[in-house]
Amino acid sequence: MTDIINLLPDNIANQIAAGEVIQRPASAVKELLENAVDAGATEIQLIIRDAGKELVQVIDNGKGMSETDARMCFERHATSKIQTIDDLFSIRTMGFRGEALASIAAVSQVELKTRLRGADIGTYIEIDNSAVRKQEICQTAEGTSIAMKNLFFNVPARRNFLKSNAAEMRHIVDEFIRVAMAFPQIQFTLTSNTQQLFYLEKGSLKQRVIAILGQHYNARLVSVKETTDYMDVYGFVGKPETAKKTRGDQFFFVNNRFIKSPYLHHAIMNAFAEMIPTDSYPLYVLFIDLDPGHVDINVHPTKQEIKFDDEKVMYAFIQSAVKHALAQFNITPTLDFEL
Ligand code: ADP
Ligand code: MG
Repeated sequence: MTDIINLLPDNIANQIAAGEVIQRPASAVKELLENAVDAGATEIQLIIRDAGKELVQVIDNGKGMSETDARMCFERHATSKIQTIDDLFSIRTMGFRGEALASIAAVSQVELKTRLRGADIGTYIEIDNSAVRKQEICQTAEGTSIAMKNLFFNVPARRNFLKSNAAEMRHIVDEFIRVAMAFPQIQFTLTSNTQQLFYLEKGSLKQRVIAILGQHYNARLVSVKETTDYMDVYGFVGKPETAKKTRGDQFFFVNNRFIKSPYLHHAIMNAFAEMIPTDSYPLYVLFIDLDPGHVDINVHPTKQEIKFDDEKVMYAFIQSAVKHALAQFNITPTLDFEL
């Protein structure tokens, strides 16, 4: 009789756990951008080299971290965002799992520079395979810069699974756009190798939508805005004439978090029924704000799938909000808008 069970060392446990959170460079982009948003940044730079395989770096002017927090943030389940299980139902931040930085640190080489607002000096930390290799004080701007280098250098099998640079870059741009769209009050830039792909100035949601999705939508956006006790919905849909045969200009956010919901997509398609050809898709950028107690964002580690406590109410409300908006703009006066 022999005992055969042993506890995995932290770095291996972290590497396995990282598989859920960090699948590709774009996953790190999402996590790092969300951290910058949560830190209250008003300016966020994303710097990419070699489609993120060599470097994903996010520089923010947010609140920064203390020397101790700068070390702590790479521990698994280390978070400043929740303390009790009840907090899960009142989440207003993008993060709360305390897994992203631990995961990134397990599968790459990380350089962190951070300085608390108002502090004289900052902290520099280098991490390799979950272990701190170097820590020292440093001169750095207020805020935080996190550079993730050589993703999966220590997990060659996963590195081999990465797609072509063009494909990885598309994922990165998608994630960048999803975060940038939700926070028009924050300035975002995206630089890939030496080329600046996006420079998004602070502005209104409308300006942000046009800056990202194209000038041709200017004057072709219909504002959507409805409020009930249960939730608010606001944002824009494109006028029917702008519907395209390809997808890509459809965005749903719940409490500022991008989500994928075929069900709610259907609600909008229904609201547009007969105004657009059946094989085309209208632009929509819609934000649903509601008490976090009504949604469970805990279903999936990347938080793109969520559960609502009453999906049917949501469906009807969104459909009616979009129909109203389209009717108000008098686009198809002959249609019946009864609900
Ligand atoms: P989570 O965001 O779920 O809390 P993370 O692993 O992404 O977990 O980050 C761990 C913690 O590190 C955060 O809770 C936050 O306190 C701190 N942190 C991470 N990124 C930043 C940043 N850009 N600025 C300030 N603090 C940060
Ligand atoms: Mg986070």
